[in-house]
Amino acid sequence: MHLQSLELFGFKSFADKTIFNFHEGVTAIVGPNGCGKSNVCDAVRWVLGEQSAKSLRGGEMADVIFNGAESRKPLGFAEVSLNFSECSEELGLDWHEVRVTRRIYRDGNSEYFLNKTGCRLKDIHSLFADTGVGRAAYSIMEQGKIDLILSSRPEDRRSVFEEAAGITKYKTQKKEALRKLEATEANLLRIGDIIKEVKRQIGSLQRQAGKARRYQALHADLQVLDTHFSHRRLQTLERELDECTGEIARVSQVEQATRSDITEGEAKLAAARRELDAADEKIAAGRTKLQQLESEIASHRHRIEFNEKHGAELRQWIERSQREIESAETKLREQNAEIESANVLLEETTRLLEQKNQELKHLTEHASKRREVFRASDQKLRDVQMNLSKDELRARQNRVRWRRSQAITC
Ligand code: ATP
Ligand code: MG
Repeated sequence: MHLQSLELFGFKSFADKTIFNFHEGVTAIVGPNGCGKSNVCDAVRWVLGEQSAKSLRGGEMADVIFNGAESRKPLGFAEVSLNFSECSEELGLDWHEVRVTRRIYRDGNSEYFLNKTGCRLKDIHSLFADTGVGRAAYSIMEQGKIDLILSSRPEDRRSVFEEAAGITKYKTQKKEALRKLEATEANLLRIGDIIKEVKRQIGSLQRQAGKARRYQALHADLQVLDTHFSHRRLQTLERELDECTGEIARVSQVEQATRSDITEGEAKLAAARRELDAADEKIAAGRTKLQQLESEIASHRHRIEFNEKHGAELRQWIERSQREIESAETKLREQNAEIESANVLLEETTRLLEQKNQELKHLTEHASKRREVFRASDQKLRDVQMNLSKDELRARQNRVRWRRSQAITC
């Protein structure tokens, strides 16, 4: 059997898919501190079924998933695969190559695959038993593990040698066989108890069987008697049936008669209902008429009240008007007397007026004569003024001429 390669994806510091090919002659992985050598070893133990997160240097199993770096986000799952070749002989299989895969998600769920087919961890353990390949087997020795083995107790050391000698598988089978033997002995004990119990039950079952046989004989007798009884009962029932048939025919006749009575009654009822409907309609019409009359009476009452009020107001108005007429007549009489005296005065005034008109006529004629005299005087006055103005103009011209001659002499 040869470890051919290790494939890592998302496991611890291996964020990208990384493949380690272990060619013939590869004996060690070297590198600076912190470059991931121990992570490779962890990956091998993890894929072979390591269950302790602490031994993988983590707090919980999901810590093995790449947790992110400055320039990369964390991943959601981690997957590691181990490829073995030339293993058909060692593992007793038909396969020449074996690929073991483990995958884990952030929720902590692990999946195992053998040659890409889902399987249980137990299948992987039993496949690699006694081959030295396993999470705690001697083929994987971590930093400081050799010291630990050398300094551990002889019993613990023995398991390493047993694994190397290839007897672990048989020891496991022995353990399994012993466990099965113990379970079989416990089953035997339980079967002995059951046999005892069954024997105890046989007597009671025999008694029950005798009872059952007696019951069957009695049951057969009962069936015969029951048949006789049923036959009698059938005859009685047939007689009763004949009687009932006759009774049914009679009742049918009565039913026919009753039905015709009902039909007749229903016709009468329908006629009565129609009459009732007509009466209802009349009552409704009468009610409508009554309401109409009541509303008319109410409106007449309102009008009467209104007219009474209006009449009282009119009477008051007539009384007031009569009083006013009386005072107006008194006033009229007074005014008639005043008119008569005014007429007398008017006649006197008319007469005076005519007299004054005559005087005015005389005066007007006199005034027009005077106006003629005045107009002639006025014309004369204007002529005089014109002559005066001409003389005055001439005198002014003479004065100017005199002043000029005076100026020339000086
Ligand atoms: P040394 O020579 O000191 O033993 P080493 O080569 O064995 O070192 P490892 O211990 O394998 O180194 O690797 C440690 C590195 O792995 C650390 O840089 C750590 O940050 C990184 N590492 C561990 N777990 C994770 C994780 N879940 N996600 C990302 N990086 C991780
Ligand atoms: Mg290390």
